[in-house]
Amino acid sequence: MKITGIETFILRAPLEEPFAYSQWRFTHRETTLVEVRTSEGITGWGEAYSASAPVAAAIDRFLGPLIMGRDPRDVEDLWQFLYARGLDYGPKGTLVAALSALDIAFWDIKSKAAGVPLYRLLGGAKSHSVPCYATGFYFSESEPLEHRFAREAQTYASEGFTAMKVKVGLGVERDAGLVELVRRTIGPQIGLMIDANHAYGPVDAVALGRRVEHLDITWFEEPVSPLDPEGYLQVKQKIAIPLAGGECEFTRFGFEPWLRKRAIDYAQPDLCACGGITEGMKIATLASLHQIHVTPHAWGSAVGQAAALHFYAARPKHPGTLTAERKLIECDRSENPFRTRIVENPIRLERGSWLLPEEPGLGLRIDRAEVERFRSAP
Ligand code: MG
Repeated sequence: MKITGIETFILRAPLEEPFAYSQWRFTHRETTLVEVRTSEGITGWGEAYSASAPVAAAIDRFLGPLIMGRDPRDVEDLWQFLYARGLDYGPKGTLVAALSALDIAFWDIKSKAAGVPLYRLLGGAKSHSVPCYATGFYFSESEPLEHRFAREAQTYASEGFTAMKVKVGLGVERDAGLVELVRRTIGPQIGLMIDANHAYGPVDAVALGRRVEHLDITWFEEPVSPLDPEGYLQVKQKIAIPLAGGECEFTRFGFEPWLRKRAIDYAQPDLCACGGITEGMKIATLASLHQIHVTPHAWGSAVGQAAALHFYAARPKHPGTLTAERKLIECDRSENPFRTRIVENPIRLERGSWLLPEEPGLGLRIDRAEVERFRSAP
């Protein structure tokens, strides 16, 4: 089997209701998909979690042309080849996100060629229903956040989610009030995480942690800068909430110091950025040495979502006991038509759990007409 074509698709869709988090305000959803075509007629899809124009250029004009004619099933060899090509000037960031998208497409092809769902090649799944937590509670100016957050909390609870994650980063007092409101709304039985998207320095992160730690917070995500593992350690020593992070980190080389120092309790590689599935598995193995949970960041289209799900379903539970509970995977509930509209068979969510796709590869049937429609959006 040979690679005969590689094409990128920058998808764009205006949001019905703009929203924000601590770093950015969104009026559109945008993502970059890649399709890898082969001599056998099998095609694979991948996605990059990165700025669209540079990552598409990195695939179209730099990495893609290097691998025409190669066998896409040689995932490890291709990974090393492409990573080595960019190492001197792009060991993290755009080039690694571009490599991630290609790697996911290679795995899609490899498992389609084998006639099995991707999770089987990654180790197999013990359960075909994967519990997830709802990511939501973004900031919006259309109504008071108290109303919005209470309504969202009730919605996710009624949909059967056993955990949900609240955005913080509006200032310690405002955050604490909103987190208290959500906990009051959902009661004590439902898991609750908070995510600052590195809005704070250690002093404010500690202050917020102390204000909410009595609310039984499962983790505090990206409390401080993703460039500062020592800052995480500083926060960790002073609050009684586990820390999560890693969506801005790349490759096993990037994750290694975070894991070795135990700066995070939950590692959150994004498979569409960290180096793809090939590298995600290595990061997970490193994390297991330090008994750190891996639960992927997943904020993309159905393609990225499926990659995260197959990967996660095939990871062993830690620690291995008869009664070990699986930790939860992210389920983004913010407005994103790419989760459902670009595939004929969106991944099914039932009572707060994803149902693992069972068709070969990622298990998605891409709706090309919809992809083209979003591709041409202004
Ligand atoms: Mg996050």
